[in-house]
Amino acid sequence: MRQAYRATVAHCLKKGSDPFGGGATPKGSEPFLECYEDGLLIVEDGHVVAVGDAATLLPQLGADADVSEFPGKVIVPGFIDCHVHFPQLDIIASYGEQLLDWLDRYAYPAEAKFADRGHAEVVAAAFLDELLRNGTTTALVFGTVHAHSADAIFEAAEARGMRLIAGKVLMDINCPEYLRDDPVSAYTDSKALIERWHGKGRLGYAITPRFALTSSAEQLAAAGRLASEHPDVWIHTHLAENEAEVEQIAKQFPESRSYLDVYDAHGLVRERSVFAHCLHVDEDDRGCMSTKGAAAAFCPTSNLFLGSGLFDLKAMRAAKVRCGLGTDVGGGTSLSMLRTANEAYKVLHLQDQALPAAEALYLLTLGAAEALYLDEHVGNFERGKEADFVVLDPGATVISARRSRVATSIEETLFALTMLADDRHVAASYVAGKRAEIR
Ligand SMILES: [Zn+2]
Repeated sequence: MRQAYRATVAHCLKKGSDPFGGGATPKGSEPFLECYEDGLLIVEDGHVVAVGDAATLLPQLGADADVSEFPGKVIVPGFIDCHVHFPQLDIIASYGEQLLDWLDRYAYPAEAKFADRGHAEVVAAAFLDELLRNGTTTALVFGTVHAHSADAIFEAAEARGMRLIAGKVLMDINCPEYLRDDPVSAYTDSKALIERWHGKGRLGYAITPRFALTSSAEQLAAAGRLASEHPDVWIHTHLAENEAEVEQIAKQFPESRSYLDVYDAHGLVRERSVFAHCLHVDEDDRGCMSTKGAAAAFCPTSNLFLGSGLFDLKAMRAAKVRCGLGTDVGGGTSLSMLRTANEAYKVLHLQDQALPAAEALYLLTLGAAEALYLDEHVGNFERGKEADFVVLDPGATVISARRSRVATSIEETLFALTMLADDRHVAASYVAGKRAEIR
């Protein structure tokens, strides 16, 4: 049966097929915002059938169609988080260290608890419910070194019908003994997980070395071998987040020109490679990422919280690198992609760069889908795409209600929401056309 949803509807579209937005993109393929003040989104069997003006589409609906009315609310595509760690849910907002000390003091002890599969299952369920509460319907997720951490997050995503990519972490040096695998188990465990989960329903697997510091050359080679045997899986890791980290990489891999070069030398820079942070990179690195089709995850709340640096979106765009936003919880301070866009705006402003509402929505939806090579499935309301969407309520708080009453355009309302909104403003999240039941 057809379901229809009536509200203001906004999503991003592209003219032409060029996957890059903004900056040096050839004219005609820049993303643009399509809005319907009194709009209708029509869904059937979990997929988008049509989007447009309610006045045009309502008469075309069959008599059996069910119309849900959301007056005063805004429907946008489900948000996509391009980098997040589910095992760090409970250490979000841990005080006072930069990356390497923060990992030792907070992240590693928290991840050690995932040796208990029951704990992993409880946190995975809570984590995905929080994503949905925040309007995030797809994410690229780090597990822990334990293979069953990946099983736990995949099982929880499958139960919720979510499109999700995740992987078990690879780490065998420069980290606590209790969190180490080895090159052989990294390979065999990841391979078994790929066979179990990759391509099952809406799920995808990411080979997930934590970062080059915590993997031996043998382990990076094993990851590269696995990647070459599975060209359609993702690769998910960190790159050039912190200056002390970059210095240690230069010592550990003196033969490499740059941090990215370490990954590239092991066959880990390609389409579906996603590098979180990319703060301390140069033109050659951006050129390599662009040529090979790799993506950058811009994680502003984490970069500010851990004092790591400022992401240069303009340079990434000029080099035509695919970019999305990531929360990077627990280094990041919110699972809300709206709050993440808020901090992205400020990080860019500090560098004389702009982030208008249309581009923020693009980074949260279609642009992120392009970064993850998921844009044939999700990211906007083109006919046939999976119906993942969010109902935003500008009236959810007193201040945003006042602000939205004086807004004179949908773009203005969306911009104010990216500055003022959080999970309170998510009235509902829909996954493949079904309203998420958030426990
Ligand atoms: Zn991270």
